[in-house]
Amino acid sequence: MFQTPGIHHVTAIAGDPQENLDFYTNVLGLRLVKLTVNYDDPGTYHFYFGDGVGRPGTIMTTFPWPGAPRGRRGNGQVTSIAYPIARESLDYWSERLAAAGVDVQGPAERFGEQVLSFTDPHGLPFELIAVQERPDLEIWEGSPVPAPHQLGPFHGVALSVRQRAATAEVLTWLGFERVGEEGERVRFRARASLGAGIVDVLERPNDLPGTVSTGTVHHVAFRVKDAEEQERMRKELFAMGFIVSPVRDRTYFRSIYFREPGGVLFEIATDQPGFAVNEPIERLGTRLCLPEHLEPARRELESILPPLQLPEK
Ligand code: ZN
Repeated sequence: MFQTPGIHHVTAIAGDPQENLDFYTNVLGLRLVKLTVNYDDPGTYHFYFGDGVGRPGTIMTTFPWPGAPRGRRGNGQVTSIAYPIARESLDYWSERLAAAGVDVQGPAERFGEQVLSFTDPHGLPFELIAVQERPDLEIWEGSPVPAPHQLGPFHGVALSVRQRAATAEVLTWLGFERVGEEGERVRFRARASLGAGIVDVLERPNDLPGTVSTGTVHHVAFRVKDAEEQERMRKELFAMGFIVSPVRDRTYFRSIYFREPGGVLFEIATDQPGFAVNEPIERLGTRLCLPEHLEPARRELESILPPLQLPEK
C-alpha cells in the first residue's frame, strides 16, 4: 500500500478556449499557471489553473474542444470537483457566481457542511464546500477574488461507478481510508492528506456510463512523492492485472495512467519538477510553453491554435 497525499490535478474537457480561460480566471479567480498544448493532441490547448504558485492539489486543467458536443456525465467518471471555502465566504460566492450569470444551487447540507453547486459555462460540475478549517492558501495577487475568499487546494472529487467495492480497493491501495457514508456517497480520505485529500464514491447501479466530451472530466491525478515510488506503483499495478501506461514526461510532472475497475481514468503524477521549471513564478502562464519535441512546430501550432486574450496579470 502507498500513502498518496491526495489529488495532484483534475483534467476536464472544455468548450471555447476563451470562455474557459475567462471563467476560470475572471470568475473563479484562479491563476493561469501554464499555457501549453495537449502533448497527445498538440492542435489543442492545455490550460493549467492553480493557486498563486501552482502547487499540486490546486491544479485544475482543461483541454478546450471548441465546437465539440456536450459529453454525458455518468459512471466511470469524476462527476464533481469540490473546493473548500470558509463559512464566511458562502454569501460572497453565491453572489459572485450569480452576478456572473451562473445558476447556483444550495447551500445544501452534506456531512454537516454547507455545499454550493454550479457548473462552468460548458457544463462541468463544481461544488464549494464551507469547511470549519481551510487549508493554507498561496494567494494569487492578480486574482479578482479578494484573498480570504480565494480558491486554493481542492476539497476533493466525487467518482460515479456502477459498483463501489473494487474502486474502494484501489483507493485503499493508493492510501485512502473510508471515513463516512451518506446515502449513495461513501467518503474516502487520504491518510497522509496534505489537502485535496477527499474522494467520494457514488454508487449508481442504474446510471449509464459517461461519454468524454465538453463538460466532463477526463481524468484525476493523484500525487506521488518521486519517480522511484511511481515505478514501484507501476510494477504493483501490473502485478494486480491493470493495464498501465509507460511513464510519460509531462514537463511539469511525470505520469502513469490506468483505469480503475469502475472505469475512471486515474493518473499518478510526481510533485516535481513543478510549473517553475521553464518560467519564473512571476511569469507563469504568460506565454505558450511547448515541450522540446514540439518547438520545431511552434509556428505551425500557433497558426492552428485559436487566438487568445490572456489575463492581464
Ligand atoms: Zn493529467
